[in-house]
Amino acid sequence: MESRYKKVILKLSGESLANRDDARSIESIGQEIDTVIRQGTQMGIVIGGGNIFRGHSHGEKSSSETRIKDDQIGMLATIINGLALSKIFAQIGLKTLIQSAIGIDGMVDRFSVENSTKFMESGGVVIFCAGTGNPYFSTDTAAALRACELGADVLLKATTVDGIYDKNPKMDKNAKKLEKIDYIEALSLGIAVMDFPAFALCKENDLNIIIFNMNIDGNIIKAIHGEQVGSIVGKF
Ligand code: UDP
Repeated sequence: MESRYKKVILKLSGESLANRDDARSIESIGQEIDTVIRQGTQMGIVIGGGNIFRGHSHGEKSSSETRIKDDQIGMLATIINGLALSKIFAQIGLKTLIQSAIGIDGMVDRFSVENSTKFMESGGVVIFCAGTGNPYFSTDTAAALRACELGADVLLKATTVDGIYDKNPKMDKNAKKLEKIDYIEALSLGIAVMDFPAFALCKENDLNIIIFNMNIDGNIIKAIHGEQVGSIVGKF
């Protein structure tokens, strides 16, 4: 089947590497990525760090000094995850290149649009780590940023929920899944699956976001083929 999207940035949270019993293995996610690359899609992954360290909880108050240090630890956590992801993907035969927003000489290369583009064009997966390289941001925002910088056709946000609902499905059995939702509506619903700066960057650059459940086999392939999976956030 023909892929609808030719260049894709996938945001994977650190939790995807946490090896939980109820979650899919990262190897099976890698195999889906291998399939879409063979079908001609270029792939980049922005990896989170929340399984190791999350610098800040929403609404939490801390001094800027504390916040900056916490966020630096968080960004380093994403580099550890990037190295782990690269190792696992190499074991299943994927070619990977790590691109980091902060330099660690001899271990990971600094992010460059040119090198990332070349590697994706050659059929390899680029793993982006260290977020944006700045505190006060998240890896969701980094994913939106890399997608814009590299001219991706879509941003896939892997989650453990089936998409965006009009009400909390855990609290209300009448909650309805929204297959298509406008950026503004997503923002006004206070959608918790992605942060505000990430939505804002996608909106400003007309980049659609597909929010989907990564624990369902085949969802990455289906989303890239343009089949209805999860919720799509865009200009509607
Ligand atoms: N972080 C940061 N700047 C960035 C991206 C991430 O300071 O541009 C820090 C922040 O502390 C964050 C942590 O890295 O909590 C891990 O990233 P995130 O929470 O986005 O990971 P995920 O929840 O996706 O695993």
